[in-house]
Amino acid sequence: MNADLHCHSNISDGCLEPAAVVRRAHDNGVTLLSLTDHDGLDGTAEAAHEAAALGMRFVPGVEVSVTYQDVTVHVVGLGVDPENPALKANLERVRAGREDRARRMSDALARAGLGGMLSGARGFARNPAMIGRAHFARHLVASGVMPDVRTVFDHYLSHGKPGYIPHRWADLEEAVGWIRDAGGIAVVAHPARYCQRLSKVALEKLFDIFAATGGEGVEVVAGAHSPEEAQRFATLARRRGLLASVGSDFHGEYESPVDIGRCNPLPPDLEPVWLRLT
Ligand code: AMP
Ligand code: MN
Ligand code: MN
Ligand code: MN
Repeated sequence: MNADLHCHSNISDGCLEPAAVVRRAHDNGVTLLSLTDHDGLDGTAEAAHEAAALGMRFVPGVEVSVTYQDVTVHVVGLGVDPENPALKANLERVRAGREDRARRMSDALARAGLGGMLSGARGFARNPAMIGRAHFARHLVASGVMPDVRTVFDHYLSHGKPGYIPHRWADLEEAVGWIRDAGGIAVVAHPARYCQRLSKVALEKLFDIFAATGGEGVEVVAGAHSPEEAQRFATLARRRGLLASVGSDFHGEYESPVDIGRCNPLPPDLEPVWLRLT
């Protein structure tokens, strides 16, 4: 089993078309894939079709943007019904805030001396409804202002930097509910990424609320996790009896630290989330 249960296409902020993501996964030896675009399911049909043509197992997925205690947290939904009307409507509502946010990001960047960023970022967003920070970052790299996307985030787009606009996404409880009601399994994505802004106590409370509302899994092995971080969240999964997930969070060849399908294996004693995916 080589599962990759977290990656992106250009339906959100990945660089490749959904079918190309699937082909890359297949080329890299993936045997079970979920495409988990941010706040939307519009790449699912194309990805599922390509996976079927290649004989590779595929489950529909989504990565929902959540605001927990003023911190952005991502919750992956695996095995959701991509046609579930409530899920589709709720994700559309989450996406709807992006346009105004993008304008305000552009205005903030202009005040920091970087003009014309909105039209530049739009050029990198194949799906205009999904414009996000990665598209601004790519434009800043392409225009030679910064050497790479990571540096743009460090200087301009991360929390507290000049181009960062606070935004209210979905509530944690409601996002977990949408995923469950659409037949999916909710998984806390890349938990180590929240440790900078959430205290240990706040992170434990996040998992309390998550589990109490029906959340079932945690990404133990993630593209953004060091081996030590994977161990830390393996311990959390054991202690709380959570299913363990694994995902590269692949966005593109030149941006992602881990290629699709190239994650480390899960610790063998954990229950992998894919045993619950039909
Ligand atoms: P948004 O949903 O518009 O806030 O954008 C979030 C996305 O920005 C993440 O899913 C990543 O693709 C990207 N991102 C966030 N932080 C970083 C970072 N430090 N370096 C590179 N990409 C990042
Ligand atoms: Mn992203
Ligand atoms: Mn994420
Ligand atoms: Mn992601």
